[in-house]
This record gives sequence, C-alpha cells and structure tokens, in this order.
Amino acid sequence: MLIESDYFKNIFNTVREPILILDGNLKVLSANQSFFNIFKVDSANTIGTYLYDLGNGQWNVPALRVLLEDILPKKTSVENFTIEHNFESIGQKAMLLNACKITEKTIGQPIILLAIEDITERKRMEVLLADENTAERIWLVELLMKSEERYRRIFETANDGIVLLEKSEGTIAHVNPATEKMLGYTKHESIGKKLQDIGISLDTSDMPTIIQALDKSGIINYKDVPIKTKSGQHIDADIYMVNKAELAQCNIRDVSDQKKAEEDRDLLISELDIKNRELEQILYAATHDLKTPLVNINGYTGEVKKSIEGIVNLIETADISSEIRKEITSLTKELPDSFGFISTSVSHMDILLNGFLQFSRSGSVELKKEDIDMNMLINEISGNLNYKLKDAGASIEVTDLPGCNGDRKQISMVFSNLMENAVKYLDPARKGEIKVTGYEEGDSSVYCVEDNGIGIALEHQKQIFHIFHQLDPAKGGEGLGLMIVQRIVERHGGKVWLESEAGKGSRFFVELPGVMLTSSPS
Ligand code: ADP
Repeated sequence: MLIESDYFKNIFNTVREPILILDGNLKVLSANQSFFNIFKVDSANTIGTYLYDLGNGQWNVPALRVLLEDILPKKTSVENFTIEHNFESIGQKAMLLNACKITEKTIGQPIILLAIEDITERKRMEVLLADENTAERIWLVELLMKSEERYRRIFETANDGIVLLEKSEGTIAHVNPATEKMLGYTKHESIGKKLQDIGISLDTSDMPTIIQALDKSGIINYKDVPIKTKSGQHIDADIYMVNKAELAQCNIRDVSDQKKAEEDRDLLISELDIKNRELEQILYAATHDLKTPLVNINGYTGEVKKSIEGIVNLIETADISSEIRKEITSLTKELPDSFGFISTSVSHMDILLNGFLQFSRSGSVELKKEDIDMNMLINEISGNLNYKLKDAGASIEVTDLPGCNGDRKQISMVFSNLMENAVKYLDPARKGEIKVTGYEEGDSSVYCVEDNGIGIALEHQKQIFHIFHQLDPAKGGEGLGLMIVQRIVERHGGKVWLESEAGKGSRFFVELPGVMLTSSPS
C-alpha cells in the first residue's frame, strides 16, 4: 500500500505541515510526525480514531464538518479553507486547510488527504499591518525577518539538494549549497536555467500542468530520476516537489548508493540462489549414489549373517575339542547384537538419505502446477498410512476439502509429512484422533492437519521448522520433514503455521493458492 512504503513515509514525515490521511468514513489512516508534534498527541490515540473523536473531540469543529461533509464530497479538492477554533491541546488557532480526495487502488476507496497549516501568526500580522501604529509595524517587520532567517538556515544546511523553481516558466530561482555540491553547478550557473540544463532529467517545460497537479495533491514524487553532474558522473535521485507560496520547491535526494546497495544485494541473492541450486544438485547426486552402497551393505550383511549362522550350526555338530568350541562360542556370542546394530544403522541411514532426496527435490525441481483434487490426494495418503494408523490404534477423519493449485507430487509430499507426523507423535496414553479439514479464503485454500497427540510447547514451535530439529530423536525420523514442508509451501507462494500446546495435540495449517480452473483437476 502506498502509505506504507518507506519512501512515502519518509516524505510524509519530512513535510513540516501537519497532514492527516482519512478514510471515507473520516477515520484516521495515518498522520505525519508534524501532526503528532504540533497537536501534542500520540499515534496510539490517533490512528484508527474517528476524526471528530480525536483529542477529546477537539476536532469536532462545525466549519471542518462543513468542509468534509458538504463541500469535499462534491469536489476532488478544496484549498485554503480557513477554520478558527479553540483547540484543547494548543489553544485558539487559525488553521488553513487543504483537502483532496485520492483514489488509492490498494485500499479500494478514496482516501482524504488533509493538510493543515497554522496561520494564527499570519492572521495576527495581517491585523497588525492594517493597524496605523508604527511601533507594531516595526515589530512585525522584525518578526518576518526572523522567520525568513529560520527558513534560510534550513535551506542552507539541508543535506538534500533544494531547488526553488519559479512557477510560470519553471526556471531556477535559487539552489542550496547541497545542490551545488551534488551537481557541481554553482548557484550562479544554475539560476535562470531549467532543471534539464543542470543535468536533472525532469521535464518542467509544462509548468502550468505541474502546478495544477501540485495544487491537487500537494506533493509530486519522482523516483529514480537520472542526473548527470557537471563532471559527467551519473547519479540517481528521488525528487519530490512541493508547492510554496510563490515558488515550487524541489527536494533532491541522491539515492545512487542506496540503489547500488540494492542492486548488489539482488545480485548476491541471485548468486546465492544459483549456488544453493548447485549444492542441492550435488546433494541429490551424492545421496542418490550413496543409496547403492547402502543397498549393497544391507544385502551382503544378510549373506554374511546367513553364512556365519551356517558355520555356527556346523560347528555345533562338528567333532572338535571343547576348548575350540568354547573359543568359537565366545567369538560368535556378540554377533546377533552386531548384526542388529548394522541393520538399525542401515535403516536410519536409509531414512536420512530419503529425507535428503526429498529435501533436494523440494527446492530445485521445476514446479508443474495444476489444479489438485485434495479429497482424492488426502484419501491416497491416508490409504498409505492405514498400516501405521492400525498399529497406533488411531482413526482419521477427512472432511470435504477445497482444491488447490500446485505441483501434485510436491503437495503430496507436504501432506504425507504432516499426516505421518500426526500419527508418529500421537500420545500412547489416549486413543489417537487425526483430522484433516480445509476451507477457502479469498483466492487461497487453507488446510489443517490436526492431531490429539503429544503437542509442542510454545518455545519449540519455531525451531521445529529448522533442519535436524527434533524434540525427541528416539521417535525416529530425521528432522527434515517440516523444513521440506515449509520450503514447498513457500515455493508455491503459500505459508505454513501451527497452533499447539504440549500434551494437548497440534494443528498444522497450510495455505496454498486456490484452484485456477485452468486445467482439469487431477
Ligand atoms: P521428524 O519427524 O523426522 O523428526 P520433522 O521435521 O517432521 O522431523 O519434525 C520436527 C520435529 O517436530 C519432530 O521431531 C517433533 O519433535 C516435532 N513434531 C512434528 N510434528 C509434530 C506433531 N504433529 N506433534 C508433535 N510434535 C511434532
């Protein structure tokens, strides 16, 4: 949303006049820092509050109601609307209001920008100027000089470039030292020229249209404007133009370093991405290759075991001395345990290798997306789980599920992992109940795999999605499943989260894109 972008916020909070952004019902969507400072209120008591309720109802001003309820609905903007009111927080004030309606696509309804200028002092001066009294007039001139001095100081010391444009032709009336430093053109070289003459590629040939737009919106933002400095260097700048009484003020921020940092970061991310993919391919190949020796170890161990058992049987009936028999018995005594260890290690390694294979596939395999009939898919998975469910004495209930769009194999991996976990982490102290439910939410489908098992304490809920994180390694598994689940779901543009309490069971939620109806459900 525009009003949430950093760029907008920076501008919004730099503007010295208080600004409120209201929704169509006059609730405050946003207020800039200046509003908080000047009206001595904080964000918590302002954002989301109905304008007329702000600060003990101090904004419930009849003239303001006329502006917002009678005049503005018939127009897109209202300028220089004066209200005078005794504000509870800051006393009697005269305020000049500029209001305009903006259609913000992401909100879907017009929002109201209300810029507020405190003109109490100006009003007082007007009264004084009308006065014949010369002493007051002298005092007034001094006051104006002081205000001018304040503005000059800001102008001279600002880090951003400031260029003042004469409104009718768009010629440069003044530039601050930061502009001279940034562009390399002196004040004298710049004054009287157009922005393009000093390297700023911003077309100001049609000033009346620009001023019209400025009058409407108060600020115009130009992002990533290319600038060529006097020495030929290229920089990128964000420029925002605001309306000042006689002039248009352009604030120029050099964002070249920021842009370069962003480009470097993007490059680094894409390089890392490539490296990650390469690593995944290596992992896949290595895991795949390790499977063959593992199968061999398993097979040959079985044969060795059989041969040794045969030898032991032979020796039992053979005509050998009791010492040798004793010796052989002692040598073969540990063998059943050793074969047991080999077999457990081989099956653990097999599980681990399968996990690595799934893991490397989950990140690098190209997604073949289609609409998926989730009732069918979950039924297949629970069919495969039948044996484990029986073993655990557990039941599974599946309600009618909405379809989703994704890679069938990968989505199947997600739910197999979650449903296998649901069985694996049941509580032996009570009858296991597993439930798979789902509902549609906007363009997405949300599924929930629920169990009444051992549950997960709050402090572990984040870590269980990390690689190799297991709360009870004795339960088997390899601590890869949930990481794979998260990876696949995120690659589909979805998200996964969980609600659980130790001892009470878990609910794993998966949000995925809903069906697109572009292909027939599988
Ligand atoms: P694995 O189950 O292979 O250990 P996972 O990544 O699938 O690896 O899960 C990580 C850890 O999260 C598990 O070791 C277990 O401690 C916990 N866990 C996962 N699912 C559940 C569940 N439904 N109920 C309780 N604990 C769970």
